[in-house]
Amino acid sequence: MPKIPELITPRKKTRKVKVGSLYVGGDAPVTVQSMTTTPTHDINATLQQIAELTAAGCDIVRVAVPRKEDADALKIIAMKSPIPVIADIHFQPNYVFQAIDAGCAGVRVNPGNIRKFDDQVGEIAKAAGDAGVALRIGVNAGSLEPSLLEKYGRPTAEALVESAVWEASLFEEHGFHEFGISVKHNDPVVMVKAYRMLSERGDWPLHLGVTEAGPAFQGTIKSAVAFGSLLADGIGDTIRVSLSAPPVEEIKVGLQILQSLNLRERRLEIVSCPSCGRAQVDVYTLAESVQEGLKHLTVPIRVAVMGCVVNGPGEAREADLGVASGNGKGQIFVKGEVIRTVPESEIVETLIAEAERIAADMPRD
Ligand code: SF4
Repeated sequence: MPKIPELITPRKKTRKVKVGSLYVGGDAPVTVQSMTTTPTHDINATLQQIAELTAAGCDIVRVAVPRKEDADALKIIAMKSPIPVIADIHFQPNYVFQAIDAGCAGVRVNPGNIRKFDDQVGEIAKAAGDAGVALRIGVNAGSLEPSLLEKYGRPTAEALVESAVWEASLFEEHGFHEFGISVKHNDPVVMVKAYRMLSERGDWPLHLGVTEAGPAFQGTIKSAVAFGSLLADGIGDTIRVSLSAPPVEEIKVGLQILQSLNLRERRLEIVSCPSCGRAQVDVYTLAESVQEGLKHLTVPIRVAVMGCVVNGPGEAREADLGVASGNGKGQIFVKGEVIRTVPESEIVETLIAEAERIAADMPRD
């Protein structure tokens, strides 16, 4: 019997929307997205980056479509991409129709810009509905309608939500419901407030994002805090971590956030101590080496790396495998039992060998 992971709060039941071969919302797993950084019209470079993102665990990829040549490239990209492709379109309604015709799984539209083509909402809804293409209403603090900025003074959570609900109503008036919504802001506090409010207003699947979250360190923490807060409350159906860093890094962070909340199966988990004055080994290097040596494993495995024997046996008992170091040696634990003691120089290779042996004995799907 597979173990049912414990969640802090059950996920809020949202509408289930088909995005290519996947679903977003409802009982579908929370998906992880990123966006390519290559010029979309450079088809080979874009497909190469999509392949790298897919290998890293990306579920859905978004590509920017600022120019005609980018829109022209969508057909081949959508056909050859192993994961659903979303076309990100701001100002040109014609590209929306082109993306739908090209076989994209979805199109992201921005209310701050779509107001310029209100009269085409019905046509977009019809084309997307006929083709089975999902939309995302992507409200962004940086491109809010001037009337809302005037009303609220700045892009507050209330302003973001009003924009999103208004835009949703435009599509719903045309009988179109296959869309999700995002209300992104660079301030996690405003962002969390906006998503909580929006979640109360309807059952739309929600795409979480802290926009322009910053360089990797700051952006990771902002996203983890904001997504963690919402996902722990059951809010959020798909996530995109925005970092000023290569997009594969966004996927790694996104997956780690989901794994930390049991919304994804935990894979390799290193339980390593912070080290202290009692440490008799370089814990930082040891933990990094073990992580690097085991990153190829695809089964859930928990490895404890402890700097001394004080907490080593206790942590190791909870782990599949562990080491407690001291006196130039490492006590190797498997399921809490010491199986052998090895010289410090052999700790990493012994842990890797034992982890591979444990992984080989694990049942596969
Ligand atoms: Fe310090 Fe030992 Fe705890 Fe590591 S396991 S933090 S070295 S007491």
